[in-house]
Amino acid sequence: MIFDGIEIAENIKKSVAQRVQNLKSSGVFPALRCVVSSDDKSTRVYLNSIKKNCLAFGIDYAEVEVNEKNIFEKIRELNSDKKVHGIMLMHPVPSQIEEFKVLSSIDPIKDVEGRTPQNLGMLVMGKAYFAPCTAEAVVEMLKYYHVPLAGKNVTIVGRSTTVGKPLSLLLIAEDATVTICHSKTVDLIKRVREADIAVTAVGKPKMFDEKWFSEGSTVIDVGINVVNGKVVGDVDFDSVSQKVSVSKVPGGVGNVTSAILMRNVVNATELICKT
Ligand code: NAP
Repeated sequence: MIFDGIEIAENIKKSVAQRVQNLKSSGVFPALRCVVSSDDKSTRVYLNSIKKNCLAFGIDYAEVEVNEKNIFEKIRELNSDKKVHGIMLMHPVPSQIEEFKVLSSIDPIKDVEGRTPQNLGMLVMGKAYFAPCTAEAVVEMLKYYHVPLAGKNVTIVGRSTTVGKPLSLLLIAEDATVTICHSKTVDLIKRVREADIAVTAVGKPKMFDEKWFSEGSTVIDVGINVVNGKVVGDVDFDSVSQKVSVSKVPGGVGNVTSAILMRNVVNATELICKT
């Protein structure tokens, strides 16, 4: 089976668009603000795609330009602005400032990316307002395709704060047995082959071919790599898709991640309206 992120994203989009309409008819306009402190090219590409999604979902979008002098003040203003529901801190931040400190200053109820230390800490307790969108997207994809999680062995390759680590917590909450691997893992192929479900989040184009996976397993490819102007995953899709169920790249987890970000803005809006 091929797991299609576009189909899942479309489904999320329908329900989010309805909820945006409901909010607007009661006079509430969901609003996302992106805090930008550099003119980094890849940040600009990402901002343009968020803006496009916001327009498609009917969410009010604006960028807030900041510098090392006013970044904390601007975030304070966004935190207390009742008309702002989601805040995203764009990476990188000025080198003079610790990103951790800036993230810590964002109100966790507006942290629609689930990146603040407060939300990541609460994730351990199962109480986060938001989890990192990509980690959530992987679980959403597995559930959409009715892949059983309880009691299953899941191997995640990659231990980043935005993907591998939070995903392990979300999967433990679903009663899966989770192994996290990384660049120092010994006998990586054995760990991946043992898995009922393998998640690749490494950032190495086509690193995993069919010999990495066992018959009957499920593979979720989080990797997004550009090779000769073409987007490819960490998985060698052509060979692996002959053997096991696998998600597409492009058209996979990335699409679900973008839709979940929009859903989180709506979730934040509804939460803030209730408080
Ligand atoms: P990251 O912070 O660079 O982490 C990469 C992880 O892979 C690290 O834990 C690293 O181990 C591990 N790794 C690297 N080479 C390895 C190897 N040869 N064998 C085993 N493990 C290895 O990357 P990230 O932010 O998690 O992103 C990972 C990939 O997902 C990238 O392609 C990124 O573009 C993509 N991504 C996609 C989405 C989406 O929405 N689909 C969102 C975010 C990221 P160490 O910790 O030991 O260094």
